[in-house]
Amino acid sequence: MSHALKKPDIILVASANPHKIEELQQILQPLSIVLKSTRDFPDGEDVVEDLPDLEGNALKKARYWNSFTGLPALADDTGLEVDTLNGAPGVYSARYAGEKATYADNVNKLLTELQGKSNRKARFRTVIAFVDGEHETLFEGICTGEITEKPSGEKGFGYDPVFRPDGYDKTFAELEPEVKNNISHRGLAVNAFADYLGDIKSE
Ligand code: IMP
Repeated sequence: MSHALKKPDIILVASANPHKIEELQQILQPLSIVLKSTRDFPDGEDVVEDLPDLEGNALKKARYWNSFTGLPALADDTGLEVDTLNGAPGVYSARYAGEKATYADNVNKLLTELQGKSNRKARFRTVIAFVDGEHETLFEGICTGEITEKPSGEKGFGYDPVFRPDGYDKTFAELEPEVKNNISHRGLAVNAFADYLGDIKSE
């Protein structure tokens, strides 16, 4: 499949998180694309993620950074969607237990909300928006699983200690990072993006 697009030489990643940049760099390595981060543009603004869905927030960030830098820009947003909570915490995952909530606060609130519930099905969903000034494209990665009764494991971050992906008997926080990255929402979304770039005919 080809696109009416030129493969970019440089992409601005709308994140200052070195782990995210590193993960992307590894996956995009075969495509020889240079990644810049928001740290390379210290005068840029912190885009407020105030829209009601992951798509809206990812697009808002990618549009801002594309217009601020003139570079093709990629932004992501992730949420944990729990079936019996009608998709909550979803887009509010980072501040589920309040604006200044820690990861532990959010996990505790989630376990409290799920107390006594037998349906503990959940999914992590990542949306990536890629905006190059002409095209706006969205990519999605989903990892389904269950919320455990109590936290276990020390690795990872966020809700990892209470999320057990389908097909595994360990939480994300008990799995090696390479294993998590292979099956995770973010890994899948980034791979979908890499496939898209890989499909663009070089000109
Ligand atoms: P962000 O959009 O990547 O900043 O993610 C928003 C929030 O979702 C984070 O603050 C975490 O609470 C949660 N989250 C995102 N990705 C993960 C993950 O891979 N494991 C556990 N929690 C995550």
